[in-house]
Amino acid sequence: MAKRLTSYRSNIITPTKDGGLLTLEDHIISVQDGKILSIHPFTRHDGDWQDYRDSIALPGFIDLHTHISQFHIRGAHETALLPWLENHIFPAEKLCENYDYARNISTLFFEDTIKKATSFCVIYTAPFREAADAAFEVASEMKVKAKIGMSLMDNNSPEYLTHSTDYALSNSIELDEKWRDPTLGHIFSPRFALSCSAELMRQIGKYAQDNDSFIQTHLSENHDEIRQVIKAFDTNSYTEVYESFGMLTKKTILGHAIHLSDEELDIIKQSGASIAHCPDSNFFLKSGVFPYKRVKDKAIPFALGSDIAAGTCLFMPYHAKMMNYTQDDSTLISAEEMLYRITLKSAEILNLDERIGSLESGKDADISFFKLPQELDFSAQALSPFFFTNDIFELKQFLIDGNERL
Ligand SMILES: [Zn+2]
Repeated sequence: MAKRLTSYRSNIITPTKDGGLLTLEDHIISVQDGKILSIHPFTRHDGDWQDYRDSIALPGFIDLHTHISQFHIRGAHETALLPWLENHIFPAEKLCENYDYARNISTLFFEDTIKKATSFCVIYTAPFREAADAAFEVASEMKVKAKIGMSLMDNNSPEYLTHSTDYALSNSIELDEKWRDPTLGHIFSPRFALSCSAELMRQIGKYAQDNDSFIQTHLSENHDEIRQVIKAFDTNSYTEVYESFGMLTKKTILGHAIHLSDEELDIIKQSGASIAHCPDSNFFLKSGVFPYKRVKDKAIPFALGSDIAAGTCLFMPYHAKMMNYTQDDSTLISAEEMLYRITLKSAEILNLDERIGSLESGKDADISFFKLPQELDFSAQALSPFFFTNDIFELKQFLIDGNERL
C-alpha cells in the first residue's frame, strides 16, 4: 500500500549540479514513500499542505568526515595532533571496546546529527569490531544514513588499541560484505599511514579495488606527522605511500590534505580520489591552512567534514563558515558554495548525487525546514545570514526519507 502523500509549503533553497543555486519562493514539496514526488509553485497546488511558509527548506546536510567514538571529548584542547591523539583520543576510543558503551555513544551522536539537520555522515569508529557493530546497528535502528568503518591500527600505536593485521583486515572485510546498502554501507578506514603496516594498506588497496569499495584515511595534517611518515616509509612524499599501496581510487576520501606539493596534488587528481576538508579541526589543532585555491585549480573534488572531536560541533553550516573564515582575503567563498560543499558536492563524492544532496523530484526526501528570523524576508539573500549567524535560524522540522524527525 502506498504511503500517505504529504505536502509541505515553504521557500526552497537548493544547490544545482553546476555549483549554482535555485531559490523557489512559496512552493510545494510533495513527499511520498520517502521520496520527493514533485516540487511546484503553491499557486498550482490542489489539496492539503503543512505550513512552513515562515521557513527555508534545505537539503539534509552531509558530513564527509567524523569520528563517532570521540563524541564525548570534543573541545579537549592540546597543542598539536600527535600529543592530542596520545592524551585524549586514544583513551576515549579504548572505551568503545565495550559494546554497550559504544551503543550509547552512537545513540547520542545520531540524536545530535538529527538535531543539526545532518542526514548522512561518513564515520570512523574506534579500532574494535564492537564499536563498528554498535554504530551500524544504531544507525540502522534510528534510520539515519552513513558510511561507517572500524578505524584500523595494526602498527606503531598504543598497545591497548593495536590489533593484528589479520584482525583489522578480516573484520573490515566482514563488515564490507555485510553492509552494502549505498545509504548505510561500510568504508575501509585505515586510520593513517603511521598506525598501519605496509601489509595492511596493501591488502586494503587490493581488496577495495577488486570489490569497488570505499576507503577513507587521513593525509598530511601536521608537519611532525609528515616527517614521521616519510622516515618510516622511506618515501618522497606522504601521498606516495598511499599511492604505492593502491589505496588511491575514485572511491577514496582523504581527510585534511593540508601540506601537499604540486606533485602530490597531481597524484591525487589522477587517481580520482577526493578530499574531506575539515577547517574547524585544522584551526583547533593548529594544523595549518587548507590549500583551497590549489586544490580547486587542480579540480580535485572536495567537500566538508566536522572531524569531531578536533572539530567542535556537528552543525555543518558552522563548518562551512569556518571554511570561509580560515582562508585569507584573496579567496572569496560565497554562501552558495558553502551550501554546495555540505550537500551536493559531498553527495557526488559518495556517488549518491542521484539520490541525495539537493531538493529535486525523485530524490530522497531528506529536507530541513529552518525558521527565518522575523526581520528577514525570504530570498537568495537569506542564505548568507543562515551561514554567518548560525543561531538565529531555528530548525523547525527535519525529514529523513520523508519521516519527520522532530
Ligand atoms: Zn579525522
